[in-house]
Order: sequence, then structure tokens, then C-alpha cells
Amino acid sequence: MTQPDQFTHAAPLSELRIDLDALAANWLFLKSRLGAGADCAGVVKADAYGLGAVPVTRALYAQGCRHFFVAHVGEAMEILPLLEDLRTAATADRAQIYVLNGPRGMTARDMAAAGLTPVLNSVEDIFYWLEKASDAPAVLHIDTGMNRLGLSTSDLDRDDVLAAISKLNLRYVMSHLACGDEPAHALNARQLAAFKQAAVRLGRPLRLSLANSSGIFLGGDYHFDLARPGCALYGINPVPSNNPMRPVAALSARIVQIRAVPAGETIGYGASYTVPETSNSGIKIYATLSLGYADGFLRSVSGRGAVYINGQRCPLVGRVSMDSIVADVSDLATPPKTGDMAEVLGASQSVDALAADAGTIGYEILTSLGRRYTRIYTGTTI
Ligand SMILES: *Cc1c(COP(=O)(O)O)cnc(C)c1O
Repeated sequence: MTQPDQFTHAAPLSELRIDLDALAANWLFLKSRLGAGADCAGVVKADAYGLGAVPVTRALYAQGCRHFFVAHVGEAMEILPLLEDLRTAATADRAQIYVLNGPRGMTARDMAAAGLTPVLNSVEDIFYWLEKASDAPAVLHIDTGMNRLGLSTSDLDRDDVLAAISKLNLRYVMSHLACGDEPAHALNARQLAAFKQAAVRLGRPLRLSLANSSGIFLGGDYHFDLARPGCALYGINPVPSNNPMRPVAALSARIVQIRAVPAGETIGYGASYTVPETSNSGIKIYATLSLGYADGFLRSVSGRGAVYINGQRCPLVGRVSMDSIVADVSDLATPPKTGDMAEVLGASQSVDALAADAGTIGYEILTSLGRRYTRIYTGTTI
């Protein structure tokens, strides 16, 4: 029996480390893929994919990023004071905040007064913005095949729409790729062609933006004047081959109990896992970790998945509970102790690997990250 240890009892139960140097390196790498004429934005919607919009925005700004995309006006208001401060502190070099979901959630007048730039996603948005905010800047979104948001290319057949667009103070005309992460998908080239055609149709020189993270890797044809990477900044793999990005988030959870469980007994809700007989009549040892679906460790990982202790794989057993998961640690050369940390995301397990075990994508893993973690930001840009 080990002595009760003050330190491990008082220490945080789980830690989410966010490496802002890796984030900065990822942005610089993406920017380096673009031609000299193209700018690189940072997509910081959904609290910067769960990693913290304010520290992420600050770190990207420090690298020279001046274009920030959010989905909601509320998200814009979270980073607006920071960007105002940075502007007065550093230069007159003003950063722009673009709101992807359009002029909603706040009046157009207030949005324009705050200096926020909406993405106009429909004919209705265009008329509304012109009437209420007149020549305040906006971005025009043309749908080229995603069929989610944006003007249909057929809307550009209407003279009243073209006349209204000609009155807009447009910073960019944008579209969004549906299959950028599948380079061989025929829709990429079709969307590219439709986007170019729409730009010609608008009949005046306009700055264009098409590529998300994956789109940057489709080649120079897709880069235009502004790229809008999100996921790749945060270490999610934007390409079907080896991940060129650096991991940004590392998550670890503390072992709160270790127990030997006899063969034939079950572990967790629903008794879905039965402790097997061991060949050498050894005893099976399990570690309970302080992490569950309330922390964004998705319940769909139940019955598969693993955590890593000292780089060694420890399979998870039974169902994911709200506040805990259980890992089989029987095979570890050095048995872990209560209070040790297990790696959930990090050098041994990427966001994409955990996402595969959860039957989802890295985006959902990051944006689900919970609020109970002790968050530690590291890097020179904090
Ligand atoms: C979320 C989003 C992005 C960023 O996409 P990633 O795949 O995360 O790089 C870019 N543009 C639009 C319109 C988006 O909604």
C-alpha cells in the first residue's frame, strides 16, 4: 500500500495543453504554401475549434494574420476587444473579423458600427445589408455546389440582384469546397470552374476566396486572394496522406483508481465488458481515469479506443461514463500508480486517430473538448 500523496490528490484531474508555437508554425506553413499575392486568414469559429479563441487569435495576430473568420456575431465580440487592443498597441494595421453566418444575431447597424464584416449568404442578406448598413463592408458568398449557404449561381441571372451587388462594398467574394479533403473528387474542379464563372459574371475586379485548409493543398488554382484554413491550424490532418501539420492539443487524464478485477466480472455500465481469463493465471489490472463524455470524450468510443501510459497502448474497456473511463493496464512493464497521468491526445495518439475510434472527424473531437480540463497554454506568443 503506497502512502497517500498530497501532491497527486491536490493535482488537477485532467490537463489540456495547447501549444501556441505549434499553432503559429502551422499558420506560417499554410501561408508559405500560398503564392505571394494571397493572404492567409485564420478561422477561429467555435472558440477556435475548442482551443480558445482569444489566445489563438492573439498568437495568429503575432504571426501577421489579419483576417479572422467566426460563425456567430457573439464569437466576433469575444475577439473584438483583443484585436482593438492589439491595433492600438502595435500598428494602425487593422485586423478584420468576418462573420460566416451572416448579418444575424445583431442588427446590421450594430454590426457595422462594431466594424464586423458579415458574409452575405442570400439575396435577402444582400438587400437587408444594403438597406440597413449601406456601404459598410461585406463579403459575398456564392454557392458553387455545397448547397448549404450562399447565393445560387442562378441568382446572378437576375438584373436586380446584380444591380444590388454592384452597390455593395465587397471585401471578398467567397465560396466553400465540399470535398477539398478528397483531392480526386470531381466536385472540386466543378466548384472551381463555377466560382471563376461567377466571378466573371460579377463583372468587376473583386478579391476572391475559396480554399479552406484542404483546399490549400489542391494547388495554386484554388488559392486566389485569401485562404481560410481552420482545422489544419489546430493540427488536424488536411490531406489524405501523412499529416504535414504539427499537433497543437495534448490532453491527459489522471488515474484516480487502480484495481485488480477477477475473471468473469464485468466493468462499467451495461456490463458490456467481461474480464477475460488470463493464460498464465495472472490477474487483470485496470485503471480508472478521470475523463468521460461530459468532458467531450465521446461515448461512441465505448468498446474500442485506447489511452497511452509512458507511450504504451492501454486499451479502453467497457462503456465511456460521464466522468470516467477504464483502461486495461495489465500488460504494462511498470504498473502505473494512482495519480499518474495517461495520454489521451498527444505524441502517441493524434486527434485524427481518436476521431477514427469515435467514428467521427477531428473537428468534432476538438469542438467537443469540455470545460473541466485545466487548460495550459504554452509558447512564446502568449
Ligand atoms: C469552417 C470553415 C472554413 C474552415 O474550414 P477547415 O476545413 O476547418 O479548414 C472555411 N470556410 C468556411 C466557409 C467554413 O465554414
